[in-house]
Amino acid sequence: SVFILGSFVVACSAKVGRLPRPGESLGAEAFTVEPGGKGLNLAVGVRRLGLAVDGIFAVGDDLFGQVAPAAFARAGLRSSMLRCFPGATGGGVGFTDATGENCLAVHMGANRLLSAACVESAASALRRADLVLAQFEIPDEPVREAFRVARAAGGRTLLNPSPYRPVAPDILALTSVLVLNRVEAAEMAGALGAGDGLEGMARALLERGPDIVAVTLGEEGAVAYRRNAPPVRRPAFPVEAVDTLGAGDAFTAGFASGLVRGLPLEECLVRGAACGALVCRSLGVLDHLPTTAALDAFLAR
Ligand code: ADP
Repeated sequence: SVFILGSFVVACSAKVGRLPRPGESLGAEAFTVEPGGKGLNLAVGVRRLGLAVDGIFAVGDDLFGQVAPAAFARAGLRSSMLRCFPGATGGGVGFTDATGENCLAVHMGANRLLSAACVESAASALRRADLVLAQFEIPDEPVREAFRVARAAGGRTLLNPSPYRPVAPDILALTSVLVLNRVEAAEMAGALGAGDGLEGMARALLERGPDIVAVTLGEEGAVAYRRNAPPVRRPAFPVEAVDTLGAGDAFTAGFASGLVRGLPLEECLVRGAACGALVCRSLGVLDHLPTTAALDAFLAR
């Protein structure tokens, strides 16, 4: 199974003719409320690819926290993964105008309250997991604790440090697979003082813990590095990109599903790139994360 360290964020979006001015109340043409967050994207992504999913997700005791079990059920995820805290559920509010220009504010709310104690409450599931997935919409503390428990039990861990903050050396040491996009790769190169390009940065990281460093390069595809081996490159699948939001999460889910199935690194990159491309083809993330059947059909084109 795959164990996901949450994040759950409810996104409220209003489609407007133009962005509102300070103090102004505008009528909106459309309004949507959708569950998301990197953790939920990853959970739904690997679930659709046929893997058993466990995990922990923090929500608040507000209205969005109350509807979270229904959102999980709709996504085929067990609501026993939810942990309720006093206060607000993670939430975002955004406006998009007729030209596609947008503005957005996100409050991480309960996601910030995920703790090592929460992780301990799921220790037996963590020990059973083949792979533990974490991203940075939650604090360091639960990531560190979950990785420690998983690695001690012989499991593998995957970290996507997004949104970027410096990766603590002990967390990096507990990371089996590090997945970065260009921005995160540049930040990490800066933090390491590794000046000689992507490969120099990846090789420096491989000295500090991970067995695999995968870097996603948008429409240039992805590349993965291992110690004592040449890089493995995978071009992007050419698609008409409508909305590249969530491409990284889709890639990580596809890539992780390949790792759990024991596929060669090349195949893991193919699955990641295909999932990324499929999500880019349409507006929105969660609804477009492919099932195994959709992924196979896309790869067989
Ligand atoms: P992030 O969303 O984290 O910035 P990327 O933009 O690198 O991540 O996208 C992740 C993966 O999704 C890429 O490695 C690529 O395989 C795929 N992808 C992203 N943008 C496109 C695109 N325009 N066309 C096809 N595939 C894409």
